[in-house]
Amino acid sequence: MRTCRPLPEVEAGSPEAAAGRWYDVDILDLTGVDGVDAVVVQLVAAPADADVQLPGEVTVPPSWFRGTTSFRFRLSAEGRIQGGTLNVDEVLGRTLPELLGTGLETLIHPDDLPAARRAWSRITGTTDRTPPCRQRMLLADGTWRWFESMSWNVLDVPDLGVVIAEFRDIDEQVEAERIQHLATRAHQRMVTVVDEVDDMIMVGRLDVGLVYVNEAAAELVGPDAVGQPLRSRMRPALAAFAGAVIEPAIRRNERWTGDIDVLVGGEPRTMATTVTPVVEDDGNEVYFGVVMHDVTEARRHAEELAVLARRDPLTGLPNRLALMEQLAELLEGDPDTVITIDFIDLDNLKVVNDGLGHSAGDQLLRAVGAELLAQPGRIVARFGGDEFVVVHEGLSEVEAARSARTLLSAIEAVTVVGVSSHISASVGVASCRRGDLDPESAIRDADAAMYVAKRTGRARIVAFDDTMRQVVARRFSIESGLRESLSDGRLDLHLQPVIDLVHGDVVSGYEALARWPLAAPSEFIPIAEESGLILPLGRWALHQALGALNRIAAISPALGEQRMGVNVSGHQLVEPGFAAMVIDALAEHAVNPEHLVLELTESVLIDSRDEIDDVLRRLRDHGVSLALDDFGSGYSSLGYLRRYPIDVLKLDTSYTQALLTDHGTRIIAEGIITMASRLGLRVVAEGVETPDELELARDLGITWAQGYLLGRPEPIDAVVEGLRAAHPPT
Ligand code: C2E
Ligand code: MG
Ligand code: MG
Repeated sequence: MRTCRPLPEVEAGSPEAAAGRWYDVDILDLTGVDGVDAVVVQLVAAPADADVQLPGEVTVPPSWFRGTTSFRFRLSAEGRIQGGTLNVDEVLGRTLPELLGTGLETLIHPDDLPAARRAWSRITGTTDRTPPCRQRMLLADGTWRWFESMSWNVLDVPDLGVVIAEFRDIDEQVEAERIQHLATRAHQRMVTVVDEVDDMIMVGRLDVGLVYVNEAAAELVGPDAVGQPLRSRMRPALAAFAGAVIEPAIRRNERWTGDIDVLVGGEPRTMATTVTPVVEDDGNEVYFGVVMHDVTEARRHAEELAVLARRDPLTGLPNRLALMEQLAELLEGDPDTVITIDFIDLDNLKVVNDGLGHSAGDQLLRAVGAELLAQPGRIVARFGGDEFVVVHEGLSEVEAARSARTLLSAIEAVTVVGVSSHISASVGVASCRRGDLDPESAIRDADAAMYVAKRTGRARIVAFDDTMRQVVARRFSIESGLRESLSDGRLDLHLQPVIDLVHGDVVSGYEALARWPLAAPSEFIPIAEESGLILPLGRWALHQALGALNRIAAISPALGEQRMGVNVSGHQLVEPGFAAMVIDALAEHAVNPEHLVLELTESVLIDSRDEIDDVLRRLRDHGVSLALDDFGSGYSSLGYLRRYPIDVLKLDTSYTQALLTDHGTRIIAEGIITMASRLGLRVVAEGVETPDELELARDLGITWAQGYLLGRPEPIDAVVEGLRAAHPPT
């Protein structure tokens, strides 16, 4: 309320005393308040220059509200604005004169109106100050802000007859409260969720104790654990571990994870545990969260699987994986101790399997396994199908040889009911100092020695020696060199002419032969076959050869019917999609399939498989010719000629050369050649080196010949150049 009376302290005669002066008066009713029981009146002199005269009988003096976010309205009994503090423009953005006569309700958010109306009826019904009421109020820019209002009903006070309402901007406070409320709700919800999860969850403060324990964790640490140090609820060993390892990690602000074995309800459980530190207040308060997930079953299962994965189910022996792990473990210990590896390969499991069935084979393997286990040996493992490995420690050379003999005799003594055949094995022995032990190469060496034992007659023991080491090293360097050369262009393809003896000794085509500067084909081709490199090598050779055939055909129409022989390994034939690969290559180079001769060795056909039949027939149906290569160097079975769709028989170099010197060979050759011509096959004599051999080939009725006498293998470019010179463009 306001008053305008000269007050006693204004000095008489002063300008203030003459003009009167504005004061802001605040009256605080403290009647009934203990120790005060009075009305406190506060008078503040208002600055003279801020006086404002408002229309009507309502005059509003300047206000000390300026600069604050509070303002006041004087409201009529109907809630219309009669006056107020001038700073309302600072807060609501609208000037007081603008607002005069407006109903307060137009400024209040519709959602808050019911509460505001309730408050208003309370105000008008009492002369007391009413409790605060919150509402959103409209700002000039159309936005809403939260205000808290307090009102006094002075309607009945003479000269006043209004309700005074003071509004305080609490928008920021409301927003803060809202966020706080959300956080509290989220926290409550989280606690409910966390309480019910199966994982054990605890929160604690280092040096103080647990502050939260969910229901699952209460089973472990007890329902009364809150407030207690976590360590006091642990078995001594675990408490010691927590003190030595986990707590220091928390102090370093590092998370700790690991499996912890605990007793829950008297039952041992394995808990996958994560302890996460939360450092607050510059490291003064260190909290930690513990989450424990029961992994007892999972771990048990994993252990069982790990055991199964390392055991050969048939013999119960460690398998290859376990062997390699145990060998790696053997690295620990005196580096000078000698480790000896016996690589044992049964010689006749296949015979037993094929003849007596797989269960007899299984029985045999079990019996051999048991026999080997009965012998001294640090590790006894089944390496693969019919392969076993026995590892010894600390044997001298002589002892190693003796021990291998004992193993071999033990195997030879194995008898299995129903298996009458004699069992034998090829054994490779490799020794090395533990300090030099590299499990992979130790096994590889023993395997290489076993392979030699097998090749040189079986049922024997061969020790890995330096010669073998060199062979292995050479093999390794060829394999890796070849692998690189497949991409670096060091592989080359040479062409050797094939001469038609029937039609005037003219070149009828070529055989494509791979060349590599670092080794001869007889050395690198078998290695390529064993290592699988023959597949890319074979594809490369086919494309090169077909490309060369096109270059030759382009020189002269007379060369349009030349044929190209390309060697094919058995590994290629059984590769899925081989026939399609050849057919695609022919299409890519636009070569007539009849100009391609695929040369297959007998060894490929021995391994008679239905897939091979299908592949050969598909290629043959496409028009490709097939040659049986190296005939006479192996089994020389004529059966293949009937079984497979073969067009060409190539007599091996050794066979061609034996024709001259060996009468028997010649008689057989005559028979073969007669039969071949009856079957419609052409015969090529390979390795013709002398005129006598050529003459003889002709006499025998051989149709084509190939050999150094007639032309050496030469690079494709050289062959093309030679042909260009011989066939100048007309
Ligand atoms: P092959 O298919 O029987 O090839 C004929 C071999 O006899 C070639 O040996 C050739 O150089 C050789 N030769 C030719 N004329 C004479 C002669 O008058 N006297 C003697 N002593 N030898 C002669 P090369 O080139 O060393 O190839 C050896 C074997 O390597 C080939 O025997 C073939 O089986 C294989 N080979 C070569 N290139 C490839 C290829 O690209 N792929 C496959 N899978 N094998 C290939
Ligand atoms: Mg060949
Ligand atoms: Mg050959």
